[in-house]
Amino acid sequence: MSHARLLWFLVSLPLMAAAAAPPLTVVLDLRGARYEDRSIREMEAEAQRILSQAGLRLDWIRKEDVPQFAQFDSLVLFRFTGNCVIEPNPMMFDERGPLAFTSSSDETVLPFGEVRCDRLRVSLQRELKSADYERGDILMGRALGRVMAHEVYHMVTRDPGHTESGVAMRSLSASELVRGDLSLDREAIKRIQASFNRHELAASGR
Ligand SMILES: [Zn+2]
Repeated sequence: MSHARLLWFLVSLPLMAAAAAPPLTVVLDLRGARYEDRSIREMEAEAQRILSQAGLRLDWIRKEDVPQFAQFDSLVLFRFTGNCVIEPNPMMFDERGPLAFTSSSDETVLPFGEVRCDRLRVSLQRELKSADYERGDILMGRALGRVMAHEVYHMVTRDPGHTESGVAMRSLSASELVRGDLSLDREAIKRIQASFNRHELAASGR
C-alpha cells in the first residue's frame, strides 16, 4: 500500500465509523432521585462499553442542561426515581415490578424510559456481600448502566422483543447486573445495526 493510500485509509476510517453510527443523545432526568455522582459516571461508562459493541456512541446530557430549542439527531430520555444509593442494613421494600421500563404505544417503543432505583437497589442488596458495600456506588452504577443498555436496545430497535442471551435478555438477575461481564449478543448487535441502516435510508430519503 502506498503512503498516500495508507494515509487516505487512516484518515477515512474514523469518518466512515462516524457515518455508520450517529451519536445517540441520552438525556438524564435525575432530579427526582437520590444518587452518587460516582454511580452516574460508572453507569455512563458501562452503558457505553456495552453499546459500543454495536457501534453506538452515546452523548450524555442532564435534562436541566439541554439548551432551549436544541436539536439532536436522535435522542432518548430517562427519568430516575427513588433512592439509587446502596446502603448497609436496607429497609425492605415491595420490590414487585420492573427495574426500568420503556414507554410504548401499540407495540411501538417510544424513546422515554423510567429507571426505578428503589426496586433496583432492593434487588441488588440481596445479591451483595458485606465486602461489596465498600464499592456499592460502583456496583450500583454498573447495574444502572446495564439496565440502561437494555432499555436503549429497545428504544433504538423500536422492538419490545428480547434476545436469548446477553444484555437484551427478557430478565436480568441481580447477579447478572453486577458480576462478570455482560454484553450484547450477536443477535442484539445485528438488530441494532439494522436499525441504523433503516435510519440512514430514511434520512437520505431513499
Ligand atoms: Zn426488555
